Amino acid sequence: MMPLRRFTIHQPRNLKEASEMLAQFGEKGRLYAGGTELLLAMKHDLLRYEHLVDVKTASGLDRIERKDFALHIGGIATHRAIENSPLVREHFPVICEMERNVANVRVRAAGTLGGNLCFGEPHSDPANLLLALNAKARVRGRSEDRVLAMDELIAGAYETSLAPDEILTGVEIPLAPKSQKAAYLKFQIHERPTLGVALVLELDESGRAITKARAVVGCVSPKPCRSEKAEALLVGERENVEKQLPEAAKALADAAQPVDDLEGSAEYKRHLIGVFLRRAFAKALSKPVA
Ligand SMILES: Cc1cc2nc3c(=O)[nH]c(=O)nc-3n(C[C@H](O)[C@H](O)[C@H](O)COP(=O)(O)OP(=O)(O)OC[C@H]3O[C@@H](n4cnc5c(N)ncnc54)[C@H](O)[C@@H]3O)c2cc1C
Repeated sequence: MMPLRRFTIHQPRNLKEASEMLAQFGEKGRLYAGGTELLLAMKHDLLRYEHLVDVKTASGLDRIERKDFALHIGGIATHRAIENSPLVREHFPVICEMERNVANVRVRAAGTLGGNLCFGEPHSDPANLLLALNAKARVRGRSEDRVLAMDELIAGAYETSLAPDEILTGVEIPLAPKSQKAAYLKFQIHERPTLGVALVLELDESGRAITKARAVVGCVSPKPCRSEKAEALLVGERENVEKQLPEAAKALADAAQPVDDLEGSAEYKRHLIGVFLRRAFAKALSKPVA
């Protein structure tokens, strides 16, 4: 590892000041939250910044609250805070469970949701589940506030659609009706996940038919991905949908276009998508895993 190059940490008093600093420093500056990605990349000399703007000094961004029929999670809420939040557990136990399996406890204690989403590392969990839950990202820059869908925020591997002065202030997740069932499963053998599958199903009153489905596969290619074809196959009487799972998995894999990388071959990942979609379906509907 290279010795860390010199840099200055700035502590803005509020978001406006943080955005202005980012605009002023341009390519020489970067927003910094927990530092678990950024400082590691700087230590390896993969990224070089002379100025780091500490977003943690801008107050309020760690809040987790229920407001306007949505759960709001602040951009600097740590993985650990989300994992342990009674409010998140009450409304979205699936998010607590996903967070509990992110990295290790040291990374979760310092690493933030905003840092995870804005680094755009493809082998990550939160964006997969948040896309399936139809979450929106709230963004603030010097001149305007924007709301982006998860798949608009993540532009590709290590790329977001944020302008240099923009800060992710939080995500909002529409509160789920009781008829909504969700599951997130990942497969991981190394430090980062090889595959993440998120499934959100809405059931009719009888509980026997699925009326809406959102399925996301992530980590296998540059960004999390949905497939209209897969989601159409996941709607209908449970028994029929179960028979269509292999076809739905194929549609998801076709949409995601898995790539060969150090986590495994594209073919291997296509196989995993089939296995994990079946397991996620069983888990969402609390059935024994076949
Ligand atoms: C050993 C290890 C294992 C890991 N395993 C997993 C895993 O299993 N699953 C998984 O999902 N992740 C995993 N991670 C990634 C981890 O979740 C992230 O490192 C962490 O969430 C990053 O948050 P941070 O606050 O430290 O970001 P930082 O390192 O501070 O910042 C990362 C990037 O995001 C930008 N940024 C930060 N906050 C904001 C904001 N509010 N608005 C705009 N831009 C912002 C920064 O400018 C920087 O470019 C792992 C990481 C490590 C080190």
